[in-house]
Amino acid sequence: MLVMGLLPQLEGIYRTDLETENLWQQFRRAEHYRKLEDIDGVLLTHAHLDHSGHISFLKEDIPVYATATTAFIAKAMQDSGKAPFDQQVCYFTPRVEECLEGWKQGAYVTSSREDRQRRFCVADRLELSEEAEKFWEKATRKKKLGSQSLDDIGRCSFNLRCFPVDHSIPGACSWGIETSSGWVIYSGDLRLHGRHGKLTESMIKEAAQLHPRALILEGTNVDKTSNVYEQEVYENGFKAINGARGLVIADFSPRDVNRLLTFLHIARDTKRKLTILPKDAYLLKTMRLLEPEIPDIAQEDAIAIYQKTTASKSPDSWLRSIYQDYSSKIVLAKDVSSNQGDFILCFSFWDLNELPSIQPRADSLYVFSSSEPHNEEQEMDFWRLHHWLEHFRLQAYGLPLYRNGKWEIPEEEKGLHASGHACGPDLLRIAREIQPELLIPVHSEKPEFYVDNLSDSGIKVTLPTEYGMVEI
Ligand SMILES: [Zn+2]
Repeated sequence: MLVMGLLPQLEGIYRTDLETENLWQQFRRAEHYRKLEDIDGVLLTHAHLDHSGHISFLKEDIPVYATATTAFIAKAMQDSGKAPFDQQVCYFTPRVEECLEGWKQGAYVTSSREDRQRRFCVADRLELSEEAEKFWEKATRKKKLGSQSLDDIGRCSFNLRCFPVDHSIPGACSWGIETSSGWVIYSGDLRLHGRHGKLTESMIKEAAQLHPRALILEGTNVDKTSNVYEQEVYENGFKAINGARGLVIADFSPRDVNRLLTFLHIARDTKRKLTILPKDAYLLKTMRLLEPEIPDIAQEDAIAIYQKTTASKSPDSWLRSIYQDYSSKIVLAKDVSSNQGDFILCFSFWDLNELPSIQPRADSLYVFSSSEPHNEEQEMDFWRLHHWLEHFRLQAYGLPLYRNGKWEIPEEEKGLHASGHACGPDLLRIAREIQPELLIPVHSEKPEFYVDNLSDSGIKVTLPTEYGMVEI
């Protein structure tokens, strides 16, 4: 990743157990090479992997600053994930050089002895319940975690402000840090049109009062001119599902708890059971440790948990705990198969291997409540998804179709996805109200949008360059 430029060539910040001999020699004369020492910390805004994924490469003694909810979601995702490298955010298994029998010296293998936990400093919640503490410390993969308890941010040596904001995952925040040339605000991902848009409004006010030197602002949806609201998702989803007679499959991100609650509502109102996967149940159970308003699965009649048809001989402890805690909630493929009109299955593309066991009838419906494909890999997934749906003759609703060279949701089926990102006019309002001296767009395919639209605002826009530095 360093060689191909997928990770910045910054010596001194990465895990040393991943380094091969003389790794850095080849980079020391490179244009963007820098040596960094004594890193105070990393500011993480939320637990989406395009923000948190590369934390897995960092030295474990570099603390990660985040909200407690972000830290907990990251751990729940890691515990219940298939442990790909970029999910090793909260803990990781170090690699050691070992001489395997019959092999020559020089092979690096993951140690079977221990997992190492990363240090997290939480911005918002210093008092955790005993259960929440246990969750954080619990070894999940049969190995011991070197108990690294959650710290608070009060101990850091600089002025730091954490502003909760609204995004499509709970626990999202913006950060402010005071530097010798003034405050620098980093927005993270945010929106004004979500259920907790007031949080973002407060952030704008408080950030403006700091008269920041610089604002690093996201620009995912700069070219959208309006927003879809979560209430519209409910209305459109209800309309689509209420008329369905057979099985309904709802494809959305369960980490977007607002969306999950929207579909729970629809399930109740259409007298179906919202049937989630064990990993989603684990995520809900985890979030409930911090947010009591998250529904309690055990008490919620309209929630069931789908047990996949194939299983590992020795399941991880998180999975056993879900099956034990919610044993009365478990449904199997045959239960769904024999009462197809009773369920809304929360499946995505990745769960379609269950369909041959379920044998959905031809009157089944696939409701798509997520964003269009953003890259080539996702486009391939969409082709595959379309083939699956054709094979089982499932009707699709809200699903992007490939027309005139691009993927688009049919006009009459739009409004099933409220984006986690603010639209163009909202982003401009955020910039104008915070009124930084300098604006640095990030997380955008069209950063020039800010140059074009803020020329009369008194805000100087500086476009970042790949691995370049912006001096403030
Ligand atoms: Zn995000």
